[in-house]
Amino acid sequence: MPDHVPTEFREQEVTVHPEEPFTVARSEDGRWYTVTGLCPTCRAATVFRVAYGVLGPPKRLWRRDRSEPEPLTGCIPVYCACGYPHPERPPESPDSGCGAFWDVPVPPAHGAAS
Ligand SMILES: [Zn+2]
Ligand SMILES: [Zn+2]
Repeated sequence: MPDHVPTEFREQEVTVHPEEPFTVARSEDGRWYTVTGLCPTCRAATVFRVAYGVLGPPKRLWRRDRSEPEPLTGCIPVYCACGYPHPERPPESPDSGCGAFWDVPVPPAHGAAS
């Protein structure tokens, strides 16, 4: 992947480039959200899948008995997991990316099935 930039690993909140927005796709059963886009720091294509129900602060209560959760609102916290080596990454770090993290706003669910 020639486009990848091997930046020094640093845990940092980054700003998404407005001209390169991330897309958020909701699965049919509403239990998965897939965020795709380019990492603002190392330029790697990022595909980030989150299970709806493990998002948000751990103290938040989720209704687990519903077959389809309410549409997610707010932001999905995403971190880079490009899988490429980055210098200065601590060996004990669970991260597999450049350390960048950012929030991706979830688009309104209305009219999503177009
Ligand atoms: Zn990277
Ligand atoms: Zn990255």
